[in-house]
Amino acid sequence: MRYWFLCALLCCSTMTLAGNKVVLVSLDGVRWQEVFGGSDPQLIVSPAYVKQPQLIHTYSPGHAEQLMPFLHQTVAKHGVLAGDRNKNSSVSVTNPAQVSYPGYQELLAGFADPKLLSNADIPNPNPTVLEWLATEQARQVAVFGSWQLLPQILNTARSGLLVNAGFMPLQQLHTERVQYLNELQQKTPASFATVRPDIFTQEFALEYLRQKQPDVLYIALGEADDFAHQQQYDRYLQAIHHHDAFLAELWRTLQNLPAYRNQTTLLISTDHGRGLAEQWHRHGQTAALPGYPAPEGVPGSEQIWYAALGPGVPAAGLVQGEFQQGQLAATLAASLGLDYRAAQPKAAAALEFNSQFQLASDTAPAADHQGP
Ligand SMILES: [Zn+2]
Repeated sequence: MRYWFLCALLCCSTMTLAGNKVVLVSLDGVRWQEVFGGSDPQLIVSPAYVKQPQLIHTYSPGHAEQLMPFLHQTVAKHGVLAGDRNKNSSVSVTNPAQVSYPGYQELLAGFADPKLLSNADIPNPNPTVLEWLATEQARQVAVFGSWQLLPQILNTARSGLLVNAGFMPLQQLHTERVQYLNELQQKTPASFATVRPDIFTQEFALEYLRQKQPDVLYIALGEADDFAHQQQYDRYLQAIHHHDAFLAELWRTLQNLPAYRNQTTLLISTDHGRGLAEQWHRHGQTAALPGYPAPEGVPGSEQIWYAALGPGVPAAGLVQGEFQQGQLAATLAASLGLDYRAAQPKAAAALEFNSQFQLASDTAPAADHQGP
């Protein structure tokens, strides 16, 4: 893990995000503990959580680079990571629910909505930065996700965004490969009722990227969270490793396409954290709502992380400080040179990838940490 070297910062001078394409990838419910610490030494030897140890024997505890080589080689070397609470770097969700829908809403709209506290299948009343980019800034936006609630979170009925999610076939692109993927998806047994195998999300997204070259691409992977809920630590780790391999393939693909090479920012994050130690498989509400007593929840669920790589992102490695989930929305817009907060004042400030790598001065520090 690289640290934040003063000399690196001095050499950086002032940086502004300077791409014209951006790709956001979210890895549902992937904990910072595994992202920065690799496999957990207690969990990986637990017969309750690991039924197939041969699946994960290459992910040694404490060796995050074995679990996520792309993140710890390429991103840590050429970009920015945040959220390792053992090294004074924290990223928090501010929504009290700490489940997926409110998390994606906060990530994509830039603020927590106190009325959205569950995974209820309802259209999001809030426009997201993706909707703003498509409708107000005339950017081509495409979204591929594994969870079937994504069209509601992005309110496709209102936003008109192209969102291919859940078990939907891809109907907006006609290639032989898409036709084959559509058939294969239909024939593949589902492991989870509302989440398709991530491989289809990934392959649809890569094919769309190559063929249509959108300005903004959001890819929401989902399997790790579901394996965690099923208390399968082996499958959870394996899913994380596959997520990382996909990120590497995605980055390679971007650098091989002239429209994207050296002008694309890659942002990576998650919707929520998970519990600590034996509570690793759960997540949910730990903060009190105004007027209600503090609920019983799963401490740790507010703890997330993120990563950034691209032309305007300094090669700072792990950055110290306190950050918030909602900052990614304005950061995504800023990576295209656009000010999302001018349109949505409720959104948290963009990460400032400048020589100080500090939060903008008007951003409140993250509230209430449940430290590990
Ligand atoms: Zn979950």
